[in-house]
Amino acid sequence: MELVTPATPQDAQALADRLGARARFIAGGTLLQQEWDEPRLAPPGLCFINVQAWPETQRIALGEAHLRIGAGARLETVRTHALVLAHAPLLSEALGQLGALGVRRLGTLGGNVGWGMGDSAPVLLALDAEAELADGTREPLERTLLRPVRPLMVAFHLPRADARRPVHAVFEKVGYRAAFSPGRLRLALRWRDAARGRAVVRAAAGAPGVSAVRLHAVEALLAEPGPRPGLAAVRGACLRALPPPLALIASRLIAGHCGLL
Ligand SMILES: Cc1cc2nc3c(=O)[nH]c(=O)nc-3n(C[C@H](O)[C@H](O)[C@H](O)COP(=O)(O)OP(=O)(O)OC[C@H]3O[C@@H](n4cnc5c(N)ncnc54)[C@H](O)[C@@H]3O)c2cc1C
Repeated sequence: MELVTPATPQDAQALADRLGARARFIAGGTLLQQEWDEPRLAPPGLCFINVQAWPETQRIALGEAHLRIGAGARLETVRTHALVLAHAPLLSEALGQLGALGVRRLGTLGGNVGWGMGDSAPVLLALDAEAELADGTREPLERTLLRPVRPLMVAFHLPRADARRPVHAVFEKVGYRAAFSPGRLRLALRWRDAARGRAVVRAAAGAPGVSAVRLHAVEALLAEPGPRPGLAAVRGACLRALPPPLALIASRLIAGHCGLL
């Protein structure tokens, strides 16, 4: 096992490109360790690329139109940050349901999104987040998550929202039981306005084994004029992106939140 700390994000991406399947970006390591047979014994042959050495990937700052959250920011820092509470309260709320304090203090937002199945990914998709990559370019996070090989993400950019431009959204995390248990489904919905109802503009979901995705068919169904769709139609739309058991859970949540039941 090898651990390297490149001087810049660009160097880190170049190294990962060169090493291919041998490379692993590592931030807090809280998720990666779970893949190892022995928690303190990383598998041989891998090269871990430390992505926590650059100050610009740790900062949270407000731009003219966007809130920029460094991918290396720790989850608990993101959850409690005043700018996040003001401009992306849904993200703060979702992180409040993630793991225990120890995991949130070590784990990072970049690691949670990099996993693809973490709690924050559907929220960021519902909020139209963009990913900033190592070369400084920005692209919709949806596109980044669909890439066959996930690139290094340096930061996330979320449209600003505050009292003048409120966001009407909800995050649902479904588990097997009320006590701490692995999440079964994460779902985020965003509405056009405070009236909510079926005026959903974004729907996104993720789950263990299912990388976070936008539910485009659900968005299209709810945008159709005419009689309100029933639960079966919502389930059919969920099935376009989710396997049947998850589509069943998601459709019930969506129908409930949109007043379709
Ligand atoms: C007890 C326990 C409970 C947990 N509970 C939850 C929970 O409730 N919800 C949840 O979502 N997760 C949970 N997790 C999983 C994990 O801790 C979190 O997802 C955490 O955010 C991972 O962040 P990290 O920095 O530790 O990632 P790492 O383990 O360092 O990396 C995770 C993945 O992301 C990649 N990665 C890291 N940084 C980047 C980057 N900047 N760009 C691109 N890829 C990157 C890595 O290569 C790896 O594939 C839990 C873990 C534990 C141990």
